[in-house]
Amino acid sequence: MYINGAWIRTDETLDVINPATGEVVGQVSMSGREETKRAIASAKEAFPAWSGLAVDERVAYLHRIVAKLEQDRDKLARLITREMGKSIHNARYEVGSTIAFFQWFAEEARRLYGRSVPASAANKRIMVNRQPVGVVSAITPWNFPLSMIARKLAPALAVGCTVVLKPSKEAPLSAVELFKIFDEIGLPNGVANLVIGSSGPIANALMESRDVRKISFTGSTEVGKVLIRQSADTVKRVSMELGGHAPFIVFEDADLDLAVTGAVQSKFASAGQQCVCANRIYVHHEIYEEFAKRLQEKVSAMSIGDGLDEANQIGPLINQDAIDKVHDQVEDAIAKGAAVLYGGTRLTGGQYDKGFFYCPTLLGDVKEGMKIAHEETFGPVAPLIRFFSEEEVIRRANDTEYGLASYFYTNDLSRMYRVSEKLDYGMVGVNDPAPFSVQAPFGGVKESGLGREGGCEGVEDYLDVKLTSVQIRL
Ligand code: NAP
Repeated sequence: MYINGAWIRTDETLDVINPATGEVVGQVSMSGREETKRAIASAKEAFPAWSGLAVDERVAYLHRIVAKLEQDRDKLARLITREMGKSIHNARYEVGSTIAFFQWFAEEARRLYGRSVPASAANKRIMVNRQPVGVVSAITPWNFPLSMIARKLAPALAVGCTVVLKPSKEAPLSAVELFKIFDEIGLPNGVANLVIGSSGPIANALMESRDVRKISFTGSTEVGKVLIRQSADTVKRVSMELGGHAPFIVFEDADLDLAVTGAVQSKFASAGQQCVCANRIYVHHEIYEEFAKRLQEKVSAMSIGDGLDEANQIGPLINQDAIDKVHDQVEDAIAKGAAVLYGGTRLTGGQYDKGFFYCPTLLGDVKEGMKIAHEETFGPVAPLIRFFSEEEVIRRANDTEYGLASYFYTNDLSRMYRVSEKLDYGMVGVNDPAPFSVQAPFGGVKESGLGREGGCEGVEDYLDVKLTSVQIRL
């Protein structure tokens, strides 16, 4: 752990396991309630000086972080793959977006404009400014062990907040590397603090503290709801990036090749372990058979194995629980009438015996009553669902508590506007399986979350609005 600019070890340690090989990648010290309280105290102490720096000085620190990340690109990508399994190609992309977040928010920090408002009284002058909220707690998941941290810490630090981070203990080593960079570039003590350990005691200390003014969480909807409830006692600001169940709709007028390639990209990136992965692939009945055939050809050609091997497109799942959950959804679908068009089993034998590998799977004839049609799938399983009309598919796509990402393919311009406006989702990709970028706001509606990360919106959740009214002598 890293508290007040010092690395601290405890006797209790945790091995981080490579899910492709079962090998120990590294070891971390476990923090608890007391360490978390110290981390909060150090962030509180560092806040006045950090928020009081001229923006150019804070931005200079962020630029130094960017330069170090650039130098360490390859090392970081390999670490991400080793600690959580995604392919080295996906890991390189993640390092790239981490760098982009620090760059983007360094630039945004210079544009935190306030405003002057005409007053009703001749002798008053009204100013509206924005100020950093104070100490921020950030809790992040294992599936993007570096970039989810950057999406929170870059805006927080850029606008003058100080931070206590708790990454997932499933994949905490990328966070440790990032904090080594903070240490090397001389980030002032206490500005960013890192605690790793059991969620309960750490989260309770963070949520109970009056000194922590904000919680920024990325993870499951279930845990997000617990944190929203806990935040009420001290009225913390909350940002929640939660689960998803993305519909991917292919209309009869779509470019089929583009749609098939997009479905593969959206479904199988990080072995399907992304909140924005296609979860329900709705295909118009006129093109269903052809689409299924072309997708089956692509899925059956995918190479699976240790993500460090450049030839592999799909790595392992994170652990045995993940395998069990995915397989349970597949078995439930088969029992209720789904057709296995490819895969449907855990991979075993040879290199697969050492890790948690699930065969990329294509299911046909999926129906609403199956678990996979409404539970978030965190694995490489693509369920195909037939539909007959635009109105019907919009209704079915919206029939979920989630509202994160959605996708559809069409060549009809009017349909593009019509459908996009009616989908109850925070993000819509039209003929685009990856509508996400540092310049654009990322986030969901309904039970997929609150607030936005990235874009010019990405700093808002770290700022309070301050009104100053001055009465003058005329
Ligand atoms: P998770 O179980 O909710 O864990 C997320 C983080 O919360 C981890 O750091 C975890 O620590 C911690 N945590 C677990 N229980 C907690 C508790 N009771 N109180 C406080 N913190 C707690 O989610 P996950 O399995 O890591 O990640 C997958 C989920 O994240 C999926 O639902 C996915 O859709 C979602 N996600 C959303 C986005 C987005 O931007 N919307 C992005 C990525 C992932 P430990 O792991 O150490 O237990």
